[in-house]
Amino acid sequence: MGELYIDGEWTTAADGGRREVINPYDASVITTVDEADAADVDKAVRAARRAFDEGDWANAPTRRRADLLMRVHDLLLRDIDEIARTETLDTGKTLAEGRFDVEDVANAFRYFAELAGKDGGRVVDVGPDVLSRVVYQPVGVCALIAPWNYPLLQASWKVAPALAAGNTIVLKPSEITPLTTIALFRLIEEAGAPRGVANLVLGSGATVGAAMTSHPEVDLVSFTGGLATGRAIMAAAAEGPKNIALELGGKNPNIVFADADFEAAVDYALDASFLHAGQVCSAGSRLLVEDSIHDRFVEAFAERARQIRLGNGLEEGTESGPLSSAQHREKVESYIALGKEEGARLVTGGTRPDDPALGNGYFLLPTIFADCDRSMRIVQEEVFGPVVTIERFRTEDEAVELANDTRYGLAGGVWTSEASRAQRVAQRLRHGTVWINDFHPYVPQAEWGGFGRSGVGRELGPTGLREYQEAKHIYQNLTPGPSGWFKGTSGG
Ligand code: NAD
Repeated sequence: MGELYIDGEWTTAADGGRREVINPYDASVITTVDEADAADVDKAVRAARRAFDEGDWANAPTRRRADLLMRVHDLLLRDIDEIARTETLDTGKTLAEGRFDVEDVANAFRYFAELAGKDGGRVVDVGPDVLSRVVYQPVGVCALIAPWNYPLLQASWKVAPALAAGNTIVLKPSEITPLTTIALFRLIEEAGAPRGVANLVLGSGATVGAAMTSHPEVDLVSFTGGLATGRAIMAAAAEGPKNIALELGGKNPNIVFADADFEAAVDYALDASFLHAGQVCSAGSRLLVEDSIHDRFVEAFAERARQIRLGNGLEEGTESGPLSSAQHREKVESYIALGKEEGARLVTGGTRPDDPALGNGYFLLPTIFADCDRSMRIVQEEVFGPVVTIERFRTEDEAVELANDTRYGLAGGVWTSEASRAQRVAQRLRHGTVWINDFHPYVPQAEWGGFGRSGVGRELGPTGLREYQEAKHIYQNLTPGPSGWFKGTSGG
């Protein structure tokens, strides 16, 4: 029995390919899994096509789809300990975070189960002689591609709405972190998904991902990952053209005004910057601090950052884990070198920890750069590691201008005790989510996605379901008869 799930069967890669899955905490091999190629993708897409065109899934009563999603929700909570542990092994994040992720995944399944069928379309009032209505139908076969930082969570934001809407799917997790996605598909099978409705392929982006995005039988591609990959995927989808949804990166401002609750703002700046070693698309990796509290803030923030306990995510007391891979750590280190070259002041971190117990893992110390300015690449580009830059501002206008001076636009935070300022600034920020006196929370009921180069489309919320639906207009003439437009007669 292999780890690819195609047409209702667990199967091995056609050419026998395998890949090692590495634990980033100590670089040990956790296990090996199947490594698919384009032939496996073709099989999976064709199975999804058949299930969509010939099966009864797309036209099933909505209740049936909602029931399936709720069963997956229940099974996720049944297996939460095991799945959280696997996510920790695979990603290096702490067990507490792994558990939060599984709860959030279950919540996404419940939300879309409840949303399925809620919106039956609408009747358009054209006049008494016409019945005009708009209905929403599934798009078809969806290719879903997920990243490694929140492997199961990002996949669930696609799988749950796609299935709720009546599509069939082929999903590829990141090749770096496939394990919890395999567990999810075992639960989808246990929950009773019909054959071919949900298919899982594993492997590299270059081979498996590219085969998915260019397959002619795919109707929609939904991708979460980096900007460069997003561009390549959009170009491949243009060939169709296929429907496309992109959740890309961010360089997210976290703005602290002098009138903010100082302790809370410092505390949350740590969460914003260093949660999951900063490998979060919405990480508040660009701190903007008002001049009058700047120096005190930087000092307090650095003091706290130095106390973050790095370690094994499975161990109690660990507050942050390693980066996801050796290659990714090297990329983050090259940004740290760049920050220094550009003249940013390294306040703390910047190196690997000298604790020999962490020697085999891909760790980096929480790193803070001050005296940054917006012209620096370290301020403008997504580093995706435990690295935060700090800039000063003097006025509200300047804070907004700096925060909007980015090609991205995923999320931002505003810290102030003045209610109207909080709303004014939130209104002006060109970012898909704005947190006031908080950082990072998202809820399945509210849309998630980016302005600018942070993406195309939205996940979660009602729009997150719409991404997987086509709107159809059904227009009926209630007084049928000749139109009389063309004047000739018949039978003459
Ligand atoms: P990545 O772009 O390297 O890979 C993402 C996925 O795309 C992987 O499954 C990979 O195998 C696949 N892929 C790579 N090349 C491909 C190709 N040519 N065709 C098809 N698929 C291909 O991203 P990553 O390093 O796994 O994840 C980190 C990035 O994801 C960061 O930029 C982060 O900001 C972003 N992200 C965004 C969100 C969001 O909600 N906006 C959430 C999480 C992560």
